[in-house]
Amino acid sequence: MISINAAQEIVLKHTTQIDIESVPLLEAIGRIIAVDMRAPHDLPLSNNSAMDGYALALRQGQEEWNVVDFIPAGLLRTAPVCQGDTVKIMTGAPVPAGCDTVVPIEDVIEDNGVIRLNRALKRGSHIRKQGEDIQKGNLLIKSGSPVRPQEIGLLAAFGWAALPVYRKPRIAILATGDELLEIGSTPSPGKIINSNSYSLAAQLMQAGGEPVLIGIAKDTRKATRDKIIEGLRADGLIISGGASVGDRDFVRDTILELQGELQFNKVNMKPGKPATFATIGNKPVFALPGNPVAAMVCFEMFVRPAILKMLGHSQLMRPKVKAVLSGQILNSGERPHLVSVRVASEGDNYKASTITNQSSANLASLTAGNGLLKLEPHSLLLADSVVEVTLLDPDLGTEDMYYGTL
Ligand code: AMP
Ligand code: MG
Repeated sequence: MISINAAQEIVLKHTTQIDIESVPLLEAIGRIIAVDMRAPHDLPLSNNSAMDGYALALRQGQEEWNVVDFIPAGLLRTAPVCQGDTVKIMTGAPVPAGCDTVVPIEDVIEDNGVIRLNRALKRGSHIRKQGEDIQKGNLLIKSGSPVRPQEIGLLAAFGWAALPVYRKPRIAILATGDELLEIGSTPSPGKIINSNSYSLAAQLMQAGGEPVLIGIAKDTRKATRDKIIEGLRADGLIISGGASVGDRDFVRDTILELQGELQFNKVNMKPGKPATFATIGNKPVFALPGNPVAAMVCFEMFVRPAILKMLGHSQLMRPKVKAVLSGQILNSGERPHLVSVRVASEGDNYKASTITNQSSANLASLTAGNGLLKLEPHSLLLADSVVEVTLLDPDLGTEDMYYGTL
């Protein structure tokens, strides 16, 4: 049985970056940019007015200027402005040659086509200088970074209508089990609804992948094989259930029959011990336990980092915070225990509240929490001890987060 970290390394070793596609600008939101994007020119392209006002040359002794032109935004005056003349100019319009200052409308008195200043002004005021935002050649967004609304704006400002991003990995999601019904049906004794396909698909979507739901395989060799073959049309496959050693668990055997290579089939963790990772051809296949919590925790530990690596992310791990534990928790077992906790900021610290029901079958332990805490075997953490919590909720806060291995 290998450790979680060793299993993560094996997964990452067998994961390669996905190809690049060009998408319309807006569709790039949240996607990972695949090349360093550099400014093709200065921004602003030329000196322009930061105010509605008058463009002129400020010179010692000059007190009046004749208004000789009007330049609205969008217009370029090519003729230089003579000393002693001024042009009325609107915000954003290029400042014509011969002018070094823009005087806001509210700082002048205008009378019959002549203006005077009603307050002293520094030369150079209210002009946005060419390249003051971005200079030609500056890095706008680094390859491997997610595109945020501000990057969309910046890249739009240079006129790009499409952006190169990593293609979303298409990952097939397969549930296994004779007891499973599809959503929309009514559960009956002995039957349960297939929830794993949806929790896993949702996790995949949050990680930046595109789920391909291929339904439920009955617990027979043939159904398992047919569905796995179908799933291998995607870039990778996530299977839940059937990966253990039960009489009707056919996933591992089927992977081997399909010339797959089992990279590991047991991880020293709770929940998630039967977590299995294989490659068939060059496609990653994750065979996760059927228990809903175990399936989601295994996704967190093994699938998410792989998806992020496929997508060219530079940071594959979740952020962590140090938090003060609200109550005591005990792991009397032999395996490290991943415990769902609820983190909230409290004064200058974070508090991690424990959640009582941690069974790997009970999804409520995950919905009540927003973080995972690793509890070593045979260990007792007392209330008020300081613990490291991996944050599953990326919007919790940022100041005190840091990154590391699990
Ligand atoms: P298995 O790993 O196939 O032995 O399944 C372990 C437990 O997880 C069983 O109680 C299953 O009913 C449950 N389970 C398996 N697959 C799913 C699924 N897709 N959705 C919800 N629960 C599941
Ligand atoms: Mg099963």
